[in-house]
Amino acid sequence: MSGLDDATRASSSGSALPTPRSRDLIELSGPAAAAALTEDSVLVLPTGAIEHHGPHLPLATDWLMADLIGRSVVEAAAADGQDVWLLPSLAYTKSDEHHWAPGTMWLTAETLLHTVVDIGRSIAATPARTVVFYNGHGGNIALLQVALRELRRRFGLRTFLTGTGMTGGDGTNGPDEHGFGVHGGHSETSMILHLRPDLVDMSKAERWIPDHMIDLDYVKFNGGPVHFGWTSDDFGPAGVVGDATGANAAWGAELHERAVRTGVAQLAEIARFRHAPAGRPAGFRAEG
Ligand SMILES: [Zn+2]
Repeated sequence: MSGLDDATRASSSGSALPTPRSRDLIELSGPAAAAALTEDSVLVLPTGAIEHHGPHLPLATDWLMADLIGRSVVEAAAADGQDVWLLPSLAYTKSDEHHWAPGTMWLTAETLLHTVVDIGRSIAATPARTVVFYNGHGGNIALLQVALRELRRRFGLRTFLTGTGMTGGDGTNGPDEHGFGVHGGHSETSMILHLRPDLVDMSKAERWIPDHMIDLDYVKFNGGPVHFGWTSDDFGPAGVVGDATGANAAWGAELHERAVRTGVAQLAEIARFRHAPAGRPAGFRAEG
């Protein structure tokens, strides 16, 4: 469970408060949370999505990954002695690229930004000053990058974005997805086979790679110099971008282990990260 077993925190009046049982912040009372958190505490907020992932995966795929792997990372970091706490995950986020598919439940960019800003305002009312979005859905990244600066500028929070780090198959650990294995493909399907095998129907797993885009130099699906506006039905009627046919739970377990190892190291670096060198003012003031 948590690494707090030895840490009975004292309240401001000096009386001992019960030892928190876990690193789920919302399991504490308000006073216990206020006493447990310090300006060095790091709050981790997983962001998932509820969206179509093809006929073989559940709508909750991205939420399951963010929620379960994010929890693994926080528990491992806490066991490692880090002052890190888990916030409840956001399930509904920005999935408008899958708007056409029944079952997708999405917020507009405006609604999600307002939501994240409101949560940031509430975090800023606690002693904690650091929030880390642990993201499981690529469609959230651009907006969360905007939100990082909003929360810093408005509330003076130290803000960070990382995530499950799912990458597509490159031909060595599964099929070569040519950089397109981003949605319902090898890694995500393997991960859900590992986390929730009861929710996967491999008899419906297929390969959906846009072969006509593989050789383009500039206009790339992800990470290329020229971005393009896309919706997931551009790549076929299944709404999948990737190759799920070779997915397996062992690869999912390997990815999970890597994600936890990486996440713990990232949180440790985040905890010691400072915007300005020691002794120099950060040149920053919250808007207030
Ligand atoms: Zn996904």
